[in-house]
Amino acid sequence: MSFGIILKEALKNFFTKPVTTKYPFEPAHPPDKFRGLPIHLIEACTGCGLCEKDCPADAIKMIPDERTRKKQAPEFYYWKCIRCAQCYYSCPFDAIFMSKVFEVSVYDKTAISSEAIHK
Ligand code: SF4
Ligand code: SF4
Repeated sequence: MSFGIILKEALKNFFTKPVTTKYPFEPAHPPDKFRGLPIHLIEACTGCGLCEKDCPADAIKMIPDERTRKKQAPEFYYWKCIRCAQCYYSCPFDAIFMSKVFEVSVYDKTAISSEAIHK
């Protein structure tokens, strides 16, 4: 590569905004269709169990919960979740949405539970 081409590229980049961000020193702003952790909305959930059936990572287990029609609700094992959004697409009642939560590094993986995220 000639010096002229390098100089041209350097000058061009000198006057354009960087494409990278300063995360983690500044907050990250994930794009609109970013898939973070799936969040469960108990008010909309009927307890049908489709999310558990369709999850390819075995990251959902139905547990007893009196608040739903079928008296069971999904518990998410976030340490297994691969953010595929299948539960979001499978839920017929819009009781799951894909959040932009992605900062889930912890020392104790069981600390990333549905309850922890809802807090
Ligand atoms: S996003 Fe995918 S892996 Fe995660 S809980 Fe939903 S279906 Fe399972
Ligand atoms: S698919 Fe939706 S309504 Fe059915 S149990 Fe899962 S979250 Fe609840």
